[in-house]
Amino acid sequence: MKKSFGLLLIALLLVLAACGNSTKQSSDTTTTKNEKNNEKSEVNLYTSRHYDVDDGLYKKFEDETGIKVNVIKGEADELIERIKREGSATKADLFLTADVGRLYRAKEQGLLQAVSSDILSKQVPEKFRDSDNMWVGLTKRARILVYNKDKVEPEELSTYEALTEDVWKGRVLIRSSENVYNQSLLASFINIDGEEKAKEWAQGIVNNMARSPEGGDRDQAKAVAAGIGDIAIMNTYYLGQMLNSQDPEEVKVAEQLGVFFPNQETTGTHVNISGAGVVKNSKNADNALKLLEFLTDEEAQYTFAEANYEYPVNPDVEQAELLKSWGDFKEQDIPLTTLGENSAKAIMIFNEVGWK
Ligand code: FE
Repeated sequence: MKKSFGLLLIALLLVLAACGNSTKQSSDTTTTKNEKNNEKSEVNLYTSRHYDVDDGLYKKFEDETGIKVNVIKGEADELIERIKREGSATKADLFLTADVGRLYRAKEQGLLQAVSSDILSKQVPEKFRDSDNMWVGLTKRARILVYNKDKVEPEELSTYEALTEDVWKGRVLIRSSENVYNQSLLASFINIDGEEKAKEWAQGIVNNMARSPEGGDRDQAKAVAAGIGDIAIMNTYYLGQMLNSQDPEEVKVAEQLGVFFPNQETTGTHVNISGAGVVKNSKNADNALKLLEFLTDEEAQYTFAEANYEYPVNPDVEQAELLKSWGDFKEQDIPLTTLGENSAKAIMIFNEVGWK
């Protein structure tokens, strides 16, 4: 009797000890979690993107995760310089930009760190991810030809190269060569045709310009509608934004314009990406990765397409109606990193041919 009571007591004590332990353990875990949450309840985003759709997505991320998104906007090169200057003291967790050339530059300067997750690998095809996992693409944009429907028949159009022919003299509109979209466009031609041919193209476009480059992509569309030139080279989503603008003048402009995807029989239409990379000295790298996963999930990807007329990188996402109406098209088949690698050469060529 005594013996069994003793055993029972020991058993009871063991159970109590185990309970005590487990309680302690779980409360420890809770404390650590809370501390972690307090420390890491934010993500600091340095972004050069300038589209309204982004703010809505960050808000949604905040609501879903409780992680605050602090947004610092600036020109891509300025942000790169800033992250460099701030060094290990930087607040930047995620660098987001609208051109793969600048992602490449940030990587080359050692400002980014490799991140990967099964979710990212699933949501973003390899083609749109850096080979060292330093950045991932978020959206695709095509640099297309937009023409005045009253003055140009689509049958007259074929390639970027054909715009250098004499028939287009004084009719071509395109923005300054200081712009990254043009630098990446020319960088793609360097990859496909070599430097000589790329230079001939740039020279040919300068010869055929309707005016000295001024304004952004939208301004080229407006100039086509105003009759300053007949054809513009611009990014797809600007046309989508104009067609759906609150400003009736912009809608009127966009409705006068036709969309043409060049080089369909040859090398494909030039495509660039918006993308982002986690900053090397990030203090909230886990949150930055979470934001990347969020921005590439089906819902966010559909929002980019629906609200900003960009093409999703996530292959599971259906295209928005307007993009569908423009039809499928053949893209340039080159590694995106070459756009960054060739960007210095492109800038040199622009200077040589006098493309302002
Ligand atoms: Fe843009």
